[in-house]
Amino acid sequence: MSKVLKLKCVKCGREYDPSEILYTCFDCGIAGILDVVLDYEAIRKEMTPEYFRQNSNYSLWRYLPAIPIDDPRGIQPLQVGWTPLYETAKFARETGLKQLLIKDDSRNPTASLKDRASAVGVAKALELERKVVCAASTGNAASSLSGFAASAGIETYIFVPETAPEAKVTQLLIYGSHVFLVEGTYDQAVELCFAAAAEFGWYNRSCAINPYLVEGKKTVSYEICEQLGWRAPDVAVVAVGDGCTIAGVWKGFKECYQLGLIDRLPRIIGVQAALSNPVTRAFASQSDEFEYRKPETIADSISVGIPRNGIKALNAVRESGGMMVDVTDAEILAAMKLLAERTGIFGEPAGVTSFAGILKLNQLGIFSGGERVASIVSGSGLKDIKSAAQAAGRPAVVAPDIDAVKRIVRG
Ligand SMILES: *Cc1c(COP(=O)(O)O)cnc(C)c1O
Ligand SMILES: [Zn+2]
Repeated sequence: MSKVLKLKCVKCGREYDPSEILYTCFDCGIAGILDVVLDYEAIRKEMTPEYFRQNSNYSLWRYLPAIPIDDPRGIQPLQVGWTPLYETAKFARETGLKQLLIKDDSRNPTASLKDRASAVGVAKALELERKVVCAASTGNAASSLSGFAASAGIETYIFVPETAPEAKVTQLLIYGSHVFLVEGTYDQAVELCFAAAAEFGWYNRSCAINPYLVEGKKTVSYEICEQLGWRAPDVAVVAVGDGCTIAGVWKGFKECYQLGLIDRLPRIIGVQAALSNPVTRAFASQSDEFEYRKPETIADSISVGIPRNGIKALNAVRESGGMMVDVTDAEILAAMKLLAERTGIFGEPAGVTSFAGILKLNQLGIFSGGERVASIVSGSGLKDIKSAAQAAGRPAVVAPDIDAVKRIVRG
């Protein structure tokens, strides 16, 4: 028996049997993203407190009863998830929060939260007996897919904008993917990838449309709750590009609640870059339509003109009573430096955007004080050294001579 009861269109509500559809709603087309509806009654019986006490698997597969994979043979050995959740008392004091938590998801095999989605996506591809997988990506989804496909022996075709940071492109190549650097934006890479998937019959791992990827991303919330002794924070803050991550985060918390693992839900706050903010604009105008503007931000992972999972993102924010907030590139870079030099956690620009959002919300006086706030660092700073260098400054150059060092140290 499959754990999936049905797939439900987030736009029109039409329901599908999981065996009859792969990606998006037949009526709504590309805007009709599907939501996976699981058999929570059955899962609840399996995922008891006893189940967790006895479970020595500290990875996202700890939550396998709630992950829609029927054939576990496609699960790769790469260690994903159960990333550290740090409490940063210093920042909490300065911002008047009761608790400031940082979930460091840069600590995954290919160094981003996307590994949660790829682990599930590749297991699904193998379950469906697909030997070729493709993805459009700003960089991390692709580098992550490439790593998991390498482990599984699957062939991959990748479409990334030519502006993708060099480290991410190098990851693709070292894992052996076929890489297309698209002379255009991420939005154009998406179009091209979807056309190629249709042309060649490849399995499309683009998070934007593949309903199973959110099922991997949601495990970050299960972990946060379990690491807090099965309780949710008051607020969870998430960077938003396509909106798949924030949708996954919200689904994870909702499921923990539905399964009786936690007794209240957090508010979800989405953070976008100021010049790449279609979701913030739609939220502000209470609309479900996204108006295209050419995105411009140093945070390449969230540089998205039209969010492919925007409706799910808006639902997460609205249903939870949360909000959207924007941060500038300067604020992102300042947050990157601050987080690194005060905690030792080094995130890429999009990776620290949620933390930048917390600093911004604090400035705006949004917190009443006393909240427990969790932020997710979604990608490693080593993935984009060029941006990090802008935040980091330059080192001193010295002659190999102790007197030169003395002059600098003593000023
Ligand atoms: C993909 C990504 C995000 C945003 O996720 P979406 O699903 O596109 O909203 C944030 N941070 C990093 C590091 C990412 O790679
Ligand atoms: Zn529909």
